[in-house]
Amino acid sequence: MARLPAIGLVGIGNRDQGVIGWVREDLPSLIPAEIRIFHPQILPLQYFDSRRGQYLADGILRSLAEIARRENVLCLGITGSDIFSPGLHFVFGIACTGAALISTFRLRPGFYGMPDNEMVYRRRILTEAVHEIGHALGLAHCEHPGCVMYFSNWIGDTDLKGPEFCYRCRRRVDLLQTG
Ligand SMILES: [Zn+2]
Ligand SMILES: [Zn+2]
Repeated sequence: MARLPAIGLVGIGNRDQGVIGWVREDLPSLIPAEIRIFHPQILPLQYFDSRRGQYLADGILRSLAEIARRENVLCLGITGSDIFSPGLHFVFGIACTGAALISTFRLRPGFYGMPDNEMVYRRRILTEAVHEIGHALGLAHCEHPGCVMYFSNWIGDTDLKGPEFCYRCRRRVDLLQTG
C-alpha cells in the first residue's frame, strides 16, 4: 500500500460556515495526514437534476479527482447541498481512489425534525468524512457495526458507528503511514 497522502479540503457550493474548520480540527486524530485547505468551488449546474432537486455526486467527484491529481493530495469535498448517485435516493458521501465527497444536507438533526445539536452534527460530519476518506485510501466496507467503515443505510447507522476505525481497519490506515 502507498503512503498516506496529504488531504486537501474543498468547500463546494452552499455549506455552513465553520464546517471546513471542524473537519480540519477533528480529522488528524483519526487520520494523521497533513491537512490543506483549497479554494472553495461552486456547484456546477450541469450536475443539478431539477426533477430530483439534487446534484449528481459522481459528477462532482470527477472534478475533485482532477484537483487531487493536479495537487498530488487526497481531495475531500464538502457540500451542504443534497447529492445522489444513480440507483440511490441519496448518498451521504461517495469516493473513488484519491478523492471523496460528503454532503452535510442529511446530517443536521433538524433534517429529521430533531432539535439542532452542534455536537451531534459535527460528529456526523467527521464520521462521514472519515468513512469516505477510508474508501479513497482503498478501504472497503467493514462488517463491524461499530467501525466507521460500516455501511450507513440511514443516519442511525452513522450515529451508532461514529468516526473510529475498528482494530482491523485501523491497522490498514496505520500501515499506510510507514508504507
Ligand atoms: Zn461506504
Ligand atoms: Zn472496520
